Amino acid sequence: MTTPTILLVEDEDSFVEALTVGLNREGFRVEVAQDGATALQRFHEVKPDVILLDLMLPRISGIDVCREIRKTSSVPIIMVTAKSAEIDMVVGLEVGADDYITKPYRIRELVARLRALLRRAAMDGSGTAGPAAGARSLVVGDVALDSDEHLVTVAGDTVNMPLKEFELLHLLLSNVGRVLPRELLIDRVWGADYVGDTKTLDVHIKRIRAKIEPDPARPERIVTIRGLGYKYERPAPSMRA
Ligand code: CA
Repeated sequence: MTTPTILLVEDEDSFVEALTVGLNREGFRVEVAQDGATALQRFHEVKPDVILLDLMLPRISGIDVCREIRKTSSVPIIMVTAKSAEIDMVVGLEVGADDYITKPYRIRELVARLRALLRRAAMDGSGTAGPAAGARSLVVGDVALDSDEHLVTVAGDTVNMPLKEFELLHLLLSNVGRVLPRELLIDRVWGADYVGDTKTLDVHIKRIRAKIEPDPARPERIVTIRGLGYKYERPAPSMRA
């Protein structure tokens, strides 16, 4: 891979310095923005390969920065929180980050996650079928997914689906009626070397449900198989339009 560019969005000088040195050493080109407004500006100028986005920022919060970027781009985003409790809060807001990391973290862990995200993004971009290979276009009941257009529709209405949610839904739809173990889903979507919290899987499932389930509180499409994983249910024969 050529030198990937990371947009580092972080307001604390000590973090910026340490991360710049550490990430340079790991072969990343580092662009820095120290507030949310600058982050959006730099994003358009630099066109980074990946973004490390602090949650608490001056001027525009990391949440709003993420939302704004997601309107036009599926660039991989890792959201940085100060407390692990904040992950649930951020995830609940469905801002569309691909991964989450809590301060303090080891640079080695961060780099592993950055590389996993970049690898997945490169696979998608080149059109090479990843390990989650399935059809390029899938229709199950009134949910339709098209990999070439990166498009998901529910009963004909387009729903916004960031990269990881899209990959996860693709994998589930490719295996309708089959239980997919948690470990398999994490491996396929985040990479076998994923070192993050397994909660990440659940929060992505929750976000997908919010978009495709008639009643997300009582999921009937993506069902939880306790102690095992998730299953996309076969649709009931043409009851729903
Ligand atoms: Ca901060």
